[in-house]
Amino acid sequence: MDLLTKDLLINFLFILLPLFFVQMLYQLNYAYRFKKVKEWIFSIFPIVSIMLCMLFPVSVNDQFIWDLRRIPFILGALYGGYKLVFFLLALIIVIRYPMGGDGFYISLYTHMILAVLIAFLSSHYLKMTLKTKLLVSVSLTVFSIIISLISLNMFGYPINEDFWIPYTVINVISILITTALLEIIRNNMDVLQKIMKAEKLEIVSHLAASISHEVRNPLTVSKGFIQLSCDEKVDPAVRKGYLNTAIHELDRAADIINDYLMFAKPAFEKEEKISIYEEIQHVVNVVIPLAKMNGVQVHLSLPNEEKGFALGERKKLEQSFINILKNGIESMPNGGHLHISLGYQHHSIHIHICDEGSGMTQEQLNRLGEPYFTTKKQGTGLGMMVSFSIIQSMKGEINVTSEEGKGTCFYIKLPCQ
Ligand code: ADP
Ligand code: MG
Repeated sequence: MDLLTKDLLINFLFILLPLFFVQMLYQLNYAYRFKKVKEWIFSIFPIVSIMLCMLFPVSVNDQFIWDLRRIPFILGALYGGYKLVFFLLALIIVIRYPMGGDGFYISLYTHMILAVLIAFLSSHYLKMTLKTKLLVSVSLTVFSIIISLISLNMFGYPINEDFWIPYTVINVISILITTALLEIIRNNMDVLQKIMKAEKLEIVSHLAASISHEVRNPLTVSKGFIQLSCDEKVDPAVRKGYLNTAIHELDRAADIINDYLMFAKPAFEKEEKISIYEEIQHVVNVVIPLAKMNGVQVHLSLPNEEKGFALGERKKLEQSFINILKNGIESMPNGGHLHISLGYQHHSIHIHICDEGSGMTQEQLNRLGEPYFTTKKQGTGLGMMVSFSIIQSMKGEINVTSEEGKGTCFYIKLPCQ
């Protein structure tokens, strides 16, 4: 292999390396932290590739520098949109100008023509099929090489075919491979995003099933009381009592549905001072129907007065408590007692939630909070992970003790404002 081809292949490596780096960042950013992929991450690929290609070029004489910079330039521009095109153009000018020679002018207007062309194309490009995309990127590459070669002739520097044939072939192969790789990376991200969305839907639909169950109870009770009050022999005062009970039960059903909708709906994120004293009573009310259905008695012990607030997002904290309470209830399929207590100590708020359920083995306890760890047939294994991360984001602590067959206790400590 001659020196030229070797150098060009090393240049190709400078295109592949940043591409794989970007793919890795996408994965870390999205798959493991549940965050939306940031758009600027993609621009690392063309910027780093162009810099590496230009700083380690193929063959240098005092007029011209040959490298594969047009490939990251074309692809960066096609996938990154018109803002990135002009940034990349500026980058090339800044790096190329100090190197001097007539080559600078040729590079300048070849890339300027490409930039204008791609600025018009880029909005349509992402909607094209893979074949068309490959065709467009290859055509742009060949077109830009032809402009460079014609300009070289015009400047009086004819290029012999020993150079331009391998140069063109390697450019075409490189852009084909790089375009295909970019498409694969984008597809992978799409699939990942779909999987994560499906997970979210699963939690919401899981809750929906238990909520509709919970709503049935108050509805049945109120139906019973309305039927009773229909009886003409009933004393008006007693009838009023029946109707009041029916209304009360219907209110409860409405509350349960409202609470559910509050969780299902993506919440508006706002940090505020939360009264744990009120919040605990609220979440306990939400889970009481579920507890009754499972034959579980809930015991809530509150201090005489409220002594402090916690800082955080109310909806998220509610979700965190509900996940823990729900697990406690689910661990006692044959009924039992669920104890919840609240206390204040040295600038911190303590919440203890203890059940008398199945408990966990040491191995299960170690895995608690890991995504997708579940021992339930229809479990998602996401509840504890979400709860832990919410408490930690409020600078709180959560400790769990558990004994198999005896029960589990959650100790939550939140900083007091
Ligand atoms: P899921 O409830 O969908 O299974 P979680 O993340 O809420 O997912 O809980 C993960 C696992 O941790 C449960 O499947 C269960 O094995 C265990 N677990 C959590 N809380 C308790 C508890 N209070 N008692 C017994 N096991 C528990
Ligand atoms: Mg759970």
